[in-house]
Amino acid sequence: MSSVAIKVEGLVKVYGAIQAVDNISFEINEGEIFALLGPNGAGKTTTLEILQSLRKATKGSVYVLGYDISDNKNVQKLKKEFGVLPQDFNAIDKLTVKENLSVIAKMYDKHVNLDKLIMTLNLEDKSNSKFEDLSGGLKQRLGIAGALVNDPKMIFLDEPTTGLDPRARRDVWRVIEGLKKEGKTIFLTTHYMDEAEILADRVAIIHKGKIVAIGETKTLLEKSGGCRTMILEDVPESITKEIKNRFPKATIVGTDVRIQILKLKEVNEMISYLTKKGIEQSLQITRPSLENVFLGLTGVHLTEEGELA
Ligand code: ATP
Repeated sequence: MSSVAIKVEGLVKVYGAIQAVDNISFEINEGEIFALLGPNGAGKTTTLEILQSLRKATKGSVYVLGYDISDNKNVQKLKKEFGVLPQDFNAIDKLTVKENLSVIAKMYDKHVNLDKLIMTLNLEDKSNSKFEDLSGGLKQRLGIAGALVNDPKMIFLDEPTTGLDPRARRDVWRVIEGLKKEGKTIFLTTHYMDEAEILADRVAIIHKGKIVAIGETKTLLEKSGGCRTMILEDVPESITKEIKNRFPKATIVGTDVRIQILKLKEVNEMISYLTKKGIEQSLQITRPSLENVFLGLTGVHLTEEGELA
């Protein structure tokens, strides 16, 4: 049985009139990649920053690596045992990759060998390049290296691939998978569904401060019916109404129609309906995805980039 790296119970964070985190509870096991997935403003960063003791909880209990973080004495010890890639990570523009890592290393009593760390992140070629000359993906890799300087057991990654191009995102994913192989516990926040699906052993979906689904990624995918979905986009409103009458299972969001497929017969029925009506919108069929889980629970759609709207 794996031990628990993080235990959160009844966590609440209120900013004035805003309930940013609304009574959430979850556990993260040692050695797993856990993703907190949700749209902008869902409460991901607030949760992450409370776990890192950067913000105080309004209510609830949080244990990180066995430490009760409400006790300040624990926080000092704990901070040596985890690493962080903050959202919008930045380093010193005029310093090189290695110099930036040396600056971070000076903040700790002990640190790993920086040349080895640079190799782990495949940054050897860039070791002497200035931060300002790195691409977005390389900057993020330096950020992850910075989170590993103190050889932490656990790493917090706050939206590690936001703003990166697809190739740079995949490079960062490979690095994160490598860290898991080394036995690190990884807590990441993301608003990319594919990122959570590919990387995470377990996922919690957060929406308006509440956890609306939590579990093993594969179990959540199976829960989405384990089924595929038919999608029709940009359908005129008069037709969406008719489709809803004809196919009561359909979810209509704006001008988009989605119907989970249980039997092939349903696809046939839809095709004959579209043909009969002379509707020319192309019918897409998607594989099971966390998007289905999320959409089913919240009605919130994805943007074209695959992010939560
Ligand atoms: P994003 O993906 O945009 O980073 P998020 O899921 O990380 O979003 P949070 O940054 O945790 O969400 O914000 C949750 C809610 O709390 C939002 O409504 C946000 O506007 C609000 N909020 C966050 N920080 C503060 C603050 N310091 N003061 C007041 N409200 C805040």
